[in-house]
Amino acid sequence: MLLNNDQSPWMDEELSIMREAVRKFIEKEFSPSAKKWEKQGYVDRDAWLKAGQSGLLCASIPEKWGGGGGNFKHEMILVEELSYAQITGFGNGVHSGIVAHYVNSYGSEEQKAKWLPKMASGEIVSAIAMSEPGTGSDLQSIGTTAVLHGSHYKLNGQKTFITNGMSANLICVVAKTDPEEKAKGISLIMMETESVEETGGFTRGRNLEKLGMKAQDTAELFFDDVEIPVGNLLGPIEGKGFVQLMEQLPQERLIIASGACAAIESALRITSEYVKERKAFGKRILDFQNTQFKLAERYTEAKLARTFVDQCAMQLAEGKLDGATAAMAKWWTTQKQCEIVDECLQFFGGYGYMMEYPIAKMYADSRVQKIYGGSNEIMKLLIAREI
Ligand SMILES: Cc1cc2nc3c(=O)[nH]c(=O)nc-3n(C[C@H](O)[C@H](O)[C@H](O)COP(=O)(O)OP(=O)(O)OC[C@H]3O[C@@H](n4cnc5c(N)ncnc54)[C@H](O)[C@@H]3O)c2cc1C
Repeated sequence: MLLNNDQSPWMDEELSIMREAVRKFIEKEFSPSAKKWEKQGYVDRDAWLKAGQSGLLCASIPEKWGGGGGNFKHEMILVEELSYAQITGFGNGVHSGIVAHYVNSYGSEEQKAKWLPKMASGEIVSAIAMSEPGTGSDLQSIGTTAVLHGSHYKLNGQKTFITNGMSANLICVVAKTDPEEKAKGISLIMMETESVEETGGFTRGRNLEKLGMKAQDTAELFFDDVEIPVGNLLGPIEGKGFVQLMEQLPQERLIIASGACAAIESALRITSEYVKERKAFGKRILDFQNTQFKLAERYTEAKLARTFVDQCAMQLAEGKLDGATAAMAKWWTTQKQCEIVDECLQFFGGYGYMMEYPIAKMYADSRVQKIYGGSNEIMKLLIAREI
């Protein structure tokens, strides 16, 4: 087998068992609803609860807080298996891979006890709200403010493109507690939507219509004097939000890179099957040297991507992955994902353009990988800074 991630050096027996269980869960509980979710533009709420019951949420959060007690390798298995099954709408990467880790790393004991067990059970679905209509890449210039008034912050501003934005009931809002400052004025404020729905000022805008990732809800959020208790600040003091974001971003970037690797492998697998079946001019498409050479090149790149991401995953699990290397993994694997999926689609001819063929969905779903989680241009800036 040219592509077999069970050969990854970080895999072991326990992780193989987990992979098998996750695969079966997705086949049984998610795949039958996938088309419906794509049509309606969101994943059903009970999918989160089922995932929670089966131990799929917060896999890398300590057991003490209701999590699985694993590490990044466990998250990686989930990302990969969801990608192989083409379930691109279930925003668990954001929920378990990102927001839960902000709470776990910077939350007080009280905050962890309040939110993490419910995040692990699926009673809480979370989102992270950084991007705004006026700024995405330049995070230091955000305009959302959270100004202290006695025992509450008053949150004002607007966010956009927020994954899980429609379904989330816990949102980590990136806001300026000191609007006069740039990075030093940024804090992370946890907004519990149920409590602010009572006091008012918070509204969700449209569930945005996207090119791909149709089942993932991606929303606009509006804050108009929303009152958030001072105890919902993440971390003991204000102004640490930018540093907290920077510390956690390598994990977010590796989640994206790991999804990219899995998508590349899937695309090559389904394309290899197709070119062995489909015939033109009396030959299989695979018998043309053009097909053989192109696929040989792309299989090689798939192996390179896998080897690099595996190495990064092992470093991350040991707390040793640096930001520039994570940025390399994010930009390169997502660039390759888009190139490879596009080239694979070409081998399907007209069928590749039809949504009933998985390669067409993969093509639409891939494009955003070069944009979110920090655009690939920003990744190159981060790498260049270290040169
Ligand atoms: C489906 C989807 C889901 C998302 N989920 C979330 C989420 O959950 N939470 C969240 O906060 N955000 C989310 N985002 C937002 C995403 O992170 C931003 O779109 C991204 O960071 C880019 O910001 P922007 O769109 O404002 O582009 P801009 O910052 O306006 O950039 C526009 C272009 O200019 C380039 N550019 C910008 N600055 C530079 C520079 N210094 N040098 C060279 N080129 C530059 C960029 O690379 C890009 O190509 C999501 C986006 C999408 C599409």
